[in-house]
Amino acid sequence: MAHDAIRSSLVVDEQDNATLHPPKNDATPKINLLGMSRAELEQFFESLGEKKFRAGQVMKWVHQYFITDFAQMSNISGKLREKLEKVCEVKAPEVVHRNYSKDGTRKWVFRVGEGSGSLVETVLIPADDKTGARKTLCVSSQVGCALDCSFCSTGKQGFQRDLTPDEIIGQLWVANQSYMEDVAVAERTRSVTNVVMMGMGEPLLNFKPVVKAMSLMLDDFAYGMSKRRVTLSTSGIVPMIDKLAEQLDVALAISLHAPNDELRNELVPINKKYPLAQLIASAQRYLRKDGNESARKHVTIEYVMLDGVNDHLEHAHQMVKLLQDLPSKINLIPFNPFPHAPYGRSSRNRIMAFQKVLSDAGFVCTIRQTRGDDIDAACGQLVGQVADRTRRAEQWKKKVAQQHEIVRSQG
Ligand code: SF4
Repeated sequence: MAHDAIRSSLVVDEQDNATLHPPKNDATPKINLLGMSRAELEQFFESLGEKKFRAGQVMKWVHQYFITDFAQMSNISGKLREKLEKVCEVKAPEVVHRNYSKDGTRKWVFRVGEGSGSLVETVLIPADDKTGARKTLCVSSQVGCALDCSFCSTGKQGFQRDLTPDEIIGQLWVANQSYMEDVAVAERTRSVTNVVMMGMGEPLLNFKPVVKAMSLMLDDFAYGMSKRRVTLSTSGIVPMIDKLAEQLDVALAISLHAPNDELRNELVPINKKYPLAQLIASAQRYLRKDGNESARKHVTIEYVMLDGVNDHLEHAHQMVKLLQDLPSKINLIPFNPFPHAPYGRSSRNRIMAFQKVLSDAGFVCTIRQTRGDDIDAACGQLVGQVADRTRRAEQWKKKVAQQHEIVRSQG
């Protein structure tokens, strides 16, 4: 029921509706069903003269059984399957690189956009918890990022473009599907247990596509994830936190990284526009929308530990004061250095001393395990390397072509 409420609150505007009508001729690109919400798919099937419930059937094939070939969708009539084949497709972004770490971490680099050089990355981090194996997928929302946080590898790449809903949900689709290769269709189950929108980009600056993709994560006909296991992490776009509160009930994380405005202006420059007092107030408003079944019990505070920069005990005491009226869980993240990073990782002792101040003050404060060090798990790092390799390969090809040209002109 809660899922229906979420879906009905999503606004499908006129432009979105325009994309639902089937293409008129073969030259028109096919409609990608992967990123469509249930409401949109229902509308689409109605536009084909079909019953609405077809939407749920197709969603299950696509998102739960990872079937992209309409011919295999056996509970759908042959005539409709043929029609779908002609006008639709189910297409995830192309995987150009994948890396599976010894500790179970998996990482993918996707090319987004036909023939484009735009790359994004997704990382799956397994962790054992009380209930069994938890697998958390960190999903990207933009190619690059405009916010230029000083410790972030993605920020150094600048902003290229927003991802579309199918490019966002496609990351979850590929991660789940990576466990299914040798599993019979009838036995397939989803493997990713948690999603956090905390990869490349600021999700609240790509609001509609992100909300649409997250609604699919929650939808019982798609991934059916618990709203407490789906988290949006923001660097603090205050008006959009309020907008999110109106549209979707998911967990909220804030990339804080500094306990005072002076330091946060330096580390997370968006703080100059939305200073800490405004950010904390908006997080409080987000939690006030609470209901019994809501995901909004507390906010997760993400704090990257930068050696000698934001890891002094004085900073921990400032955090205690800053968060005193905000129900929060704090996650200390040892910095994962990338080439030419201007910071180093805080020592274990410094991180533990920092944690003690927060724990003694009554906060639940955890230290994130560093995972996937052997596959460059720092956000944006692998994309940088793949892009470098691609650039180097292109430069090399150009050089060889020039040499051939010189030899030809001399001969
Ligand atoms: S930390 Fe997040 S918001 Fe900041 S530059 Fe990196 S991707 Fe963007």
